[in-house]
Parts: sequence; C-alpha cells; structure tokens
Amino acid sequence: MQQPEKITMGPGGRLQVPERPIIPYIEGDGIGPDIWRATVLVLDAAVAKAFGGARAISWLPLAVGEAAAAAGGEVLPESALETIRQHRVAIKGPLTTPVGKGMRSVNVAIRQRLDLYACVRPVRYMASVPSPMKHPEGIDMVVFRENTEDLYAGIEWPAGSAEAGRLEAFLREQMGVTLPPGAGIGIKPISRDNTRRLVARAIAYAIDRRLPSVTLMHKGNIMKYTEGAFRTWGYEVAAEQFADQTITEAEVAAEHDGRAPAGKVVIKDRIADMLFQQVLLRPEEYHVIATPNLNGDYLSDALAAQVGGLGMAPGANIGDDCAVFEATHGSAPKYAGLDKVNPGSLILSGAMMLDHIGWSAAAERVRRALQDTIVQKTVTYDLARQIEGAKEVSCSAFARAVVANMG
Ligand code: NAD
Repeated sequence: MQQPEKITMGPGGRLQVPERPIIPYIEGDGIGPDIWRATVLVLDAAVAKAFGGARAISWLPLAVGEAAAAAGGEVLPESALETIRQHRVAIKGPLTTPVGKGMRSVNVAIRQRLDLYACVRPVRYMASVPSPMKHPEGIDMVVFRENTEDLYAGIEWPAGSAEAGRLEAFLREQMGVTLPPGAGIGIKPISRDNTRRLVARAIAYAIDRRLPSVTLMHKGNIMKYTEGAFRTWGYEVAAEQFADQTITEAEVAAEHDGRAPAGKVVIKDRIADMLFQQVLLRPEEYHVIATPNLNGDYLSDALAAQVGGLGMAPGANIGDDCAVFEATHGSAPKYAGLDKVNPGSLILSGAMMLDHIGWSAAAERVRRALQDTIVQKTVTYDLARQIEGAKEVSCSAFARAVVANMG
C-alpha cells in the first residue's frame, strides 16, 4: 500500500483522496476518548472490508481541549487549526466548554476560525430505535444550517449597559424607533453572500444524490429583511447557478400540472413554524432543508428527537476549504471513562466523513452494520432502557458487535 498522504483539493473543489489519506482527529473531552476508540474500530473495519485492504486511513491525533490544557498548552492551539486546514478533512469528539472562563465555546471557535459555514445534519430513522412518532420511517432529511451569522454572531449587549444605552439613543434619535425601557439588545445579521454559499451547497448536495427537493426554511413573513431576504437570495442562487437542474415549486404548479419533471430538484420555501408542523405531519415531502442559524439549531435537534434522540444523530461542519465531522451531543462528563455511553453519533459522523471523501462503500457498511446491531437489540444503556428485551452492552462491546455484523 502507498505511504500515508494528505487529501488535496482538485479542480472545481473536488477532493483528491489517496489510498492512505492522513485524517486528523480530536478525541474530545469527557466521554470523547470512549466513543472515539469505539468509532475508530468500526471505521477501520469498514474500510478494510469494503476495499479488501487496498485502502486505509492513517489517523493523526490532535491535542485540543482539556488534553491540550493539561499538557500546559492552549485549549485550541493555532497549530491544530492549521493541521485541519492542510488536511482538508477531520473528525472530532465533543469538547467541554469551560463555564465562566476561557473562550465562549471551543466547538464554535473551530467552526468560525475554519469558516465551516454549513452545519450538515442528516436525520434518518433507524429501525428498532424508540421514537415518539407513529411513523418515524417517513423521516429522511438533511438539514443545512448556516453556521456563521444570524443571532449567533454574538452581537449583543445586556440591559442597562452603556452600549445598550447608546444604541437605544441612536435608534430613538436617528431612526425613529423606540425600544421598551431596560431592553437587552441583540443584532441579527443575515447576508447575501453567506446565504448564497449555504443554499448553493444544499442544492449541490441534493443534485449529487438525486434528491427530489430543497426547502428554504425562514420566518420571512415577520423578519422581512433578514429571514425574508434569505428566501429571496436562496431562489436567486438556484436560478443563477443551477437553472438546468432545478425548478421552483411555483413553476411545477403553473407549468407542469403539479408534477415535477424527472431529474429536476424542486426548490420550495416554508415559513419556520409551518415547517415544524409539516415535518411531524408530512415528513416524506421534505428532503434537504436549508435555513439560517437559529431555525436550523431548533429544527435539527427537534428532528433528531423525532427519530430517537441526540445520542444517534451525526453531524458535520463544512466549508469551502475543509470539513470537520463531529458527534452532535456534548462531552457528558459524568459518564467519562465508564465505557458506557452510545458511540452511535460519532460512528455515524464517521460514515458521513467516508461519504465525503468518496468512500461510500465503507460508509454504507458502517450504517448497515450499526442498523443490524440495533435490530438485534444489542445496545448501550440509553437505548436499552427503552427497548423491551434489549441486551445492554458497554460502548466498546457495542462497537465490537457492529464490526461483527460486517460479516
Ligand atoms: P451532553 O450532550 O454532554 O450530555 C447531556 C446528557 O445526554 C448526558 O448526561 C447523558 O445523559 C446524555 N448523553 C449525551 N451523549 C450521550 C451518548 N453518547 N450516549 C448516551 N447518552 C448521552 O450535554 P451537556 O451536559 O449539556 O454538556 C456537557 C459539555 O459538553 C458542556 O461543556 C458543553 O458545552 C459541551 N458540549 C459540546 C458539544 C460539542 O462538542 N459539539 C455539544 C454540546 C455540548
């Protein structure tokens, strides 16, 4: 086999992946080391089986978080960010956010510093996972949440502060707007460029995977120049960059009798509150959802609950230069080192990573074997307590059972 090599970016932003790509990983804090060990076992086995030993990942550890701080370094060393930039693809466990000191969140800092503007969260039901829905099998969606702006930009001032007072005075005197007394103030920026790159990525994803629709989720009836503009710019980028591959829902109704022409991705939009109802009542009508930051935060966790909870939900943060795949739950410190928790979220994030580098045969093996293990009711404590007749196993034993199911 080849020597380990970096993944590089080819023409048109396509990744060039060697047979032995070097992939940096951050184990993470708390339960991170437990779920990472389980994940690497499953991913390595899937790659070996899918490609008959001709391909393998060369894992490169990065010290970030509590491990880095314990060694006397920064929680998020600049060198770790640079290594991720250079290697194009990385995977991470959860990182604890120190309360009352240090940076706001290491996780958020990684996304911002690497400009990972799309938070991608696939939500698909796995048979046998307990769900509050009558028909969870109808849910198969991918949420593209904008990751860099909206109310998450962190532009806010507390009630009674000098800054809030100055802003209040400016709004009253210069803009003719009166705020209620003693208001905290936050600012919600949504920009054309950041909306267009997010929606373009969501549409390209739907086209690549031959998915029927992309829905722009917004609250534009109320917040016209932020959420409403998101909708406008979303349709705009579809028409400008994907005219041949897409069609709007309005065009389908007006020109095609309500039936989308074969091979075209339908672009539609829904108001946020209405879409929350629709994903409960008619989930099969939604495939890819592109949305600003705050809506996306709420929707992706609500959808994860519909299919059985956050313990199993995978995620990725993707930018134009690099991508970081991560478990969507936190570091659950009280379970650290107990070899107890469910590694499903990080394992499935690893499967997304394998898809991202074009190794879908291995990704499919991971998903199928994990699904089989759950159908056999061999599960960690969180699922065991909800499934009648379940066999409760440790985090590492669950990983071994998944590998055994690869045949
Ligand atoms: P958490 O997700 O870590 O844990 C909450 C509870 O969920 C746990 O006590 C446990 O009961 C359950 N849980 C979580 N992961 C599980 C798993 N894999 N299997 C089974 N059960 C699981 O949330 P928290 O307690 O709010 O946060 C703990 C720390 O994690 C905080 O410092 C927080 O900032 C951080 N955090 C990090 C990320 C990230 O790295 N992306 C995300 C969320 C929270």
